[in-house]
Amino acid sequence: MRYTFFTPGPAGLYPTFESHLKTFVDQQLGSISHRSQQYRDLHKFTVDQLRTLLSIPATHQVFFLGSASEAWERILLNCVEHESFHLINGSFSKKFYDYAQALHKFAHSYQKPMGEGFDAAEIQVPGYAEILCVTHNETSSGVQMPVAEIHKLKKNNPTKLLAVDMVSSAPYPALDYSLVDTAFFSVQKAFGLPAGLGVWIVSEECLAKAERLRQYDSLTIGAHHDLPTLWKNALKNETPATPNVMGIYLLGKIVEDFNRIGVEALRKETEHKAGLLYDAVKKHGGLEAFVKEPRHQSQTVVVANTTRDSAEVINQLKAQGMVIGSGYGEFKKTQVRIANFPATSVEQTEKLVRALKGV
Ligand SMILES: *Cc1c(COP(=O)(O)O)cnc(C)c1O
Repeated sequence: MRYTFFTPGPAGLYPTFESHLKTFVDQQLGSISHRSQQYRDLHKFTVDQLRTLLSIPATHQVFFLGSASEAWERILLNCVEHESFHLINGSFSKKFYDYAQALHKFAHSYQKPMGEGFDAAEIQVPGYAEILCVTHNETSSGVQMPVAEIHKLKKNNPTKLLAVDMVSSAPYPALDYSLVDTAFFSVQKAFGLPAGLGVWIVSEECLAKAERLRQYDSLTIGAHHDLPTLWKNALKNETPATPNVMGIYLLGKIVEDFNRIGVEALRKETEHKAGLLYDAVKKHGGLEAFVKEPRHQSQTVVVANTTRDSAEVINQLKAQGMVIGSGYGEFKKTQVRIANFPATSVEQTEKLVRALKGV
């Protein structure tokens, strides 16, 4: 059986993935030199497509890393001298904080229980914090922070850097990069590609900070993928190490497909499908939305409490060709998570909604 994956990462592959992969193989792109003009053109194509899709200005560079969690470490090493500040309401936002502690930064946090979200007005930022670390979409609990609240947080703290984890929501959040200093995602969520590539968007302010920190004997900004070296290479459309050419090529082609549809149309479709899913959960006797506050309900990962063991719900849907995710961690048996990414169409979402009624 060929399944439709509504899993929150790895997720269903974008429908055009297969033909782009075939082109990659046919053109023997896996063997080209990463110091050749052919590679530089390929690299530039992907970066340009991303700039168009996400409205990334010239003040910001786009880098390719091994994964999104690598971006956590890069940000903390390159942009924090002493103190970071983290909004934590689930496993992924907590891991960003854990990385800060592991790197011996003084990590402050404002924590809320799983399922609850943040608004700017309630957030008090410690005076010495150098960076605000925010998770736009907490994948473990299905909570999103409204983009307007993220922007307000920066407006309330204009001297701090702002980092946004948009791993399981990009390209849905319309971030304003005059306020966001750095943001990142990986390709196995809403971009519908196999895992193995992280994308890191970084401002000139972050670069200036890294260049300053690099001069301190008491501190390291790291050796692998340090920001000044990434930046220097990106200006030539190259990478410091041999890159994941396949991932970068495929991302460029999928983002080109996204741009043909248009990011506004993609965002509207995401909201439409999320509406169908939350409505189905609401009307279902055995399901209820985990996130109660509508403005904090994720548009890209719908999380529902189940009255039965979630495995029964998951298996019944799987028998009909649809794979949804289990709850995260301690919620594995009592919740399901349904990804709502561009790879799953309105028709497929409607089919899932019909099937949900029967379980
Ligand atoms: C998946 C995920 C990550 C980690 O991404 P990797 O590609 O596994 O490194 C980080 N943050 C969020 C919110 C995620 O959903």
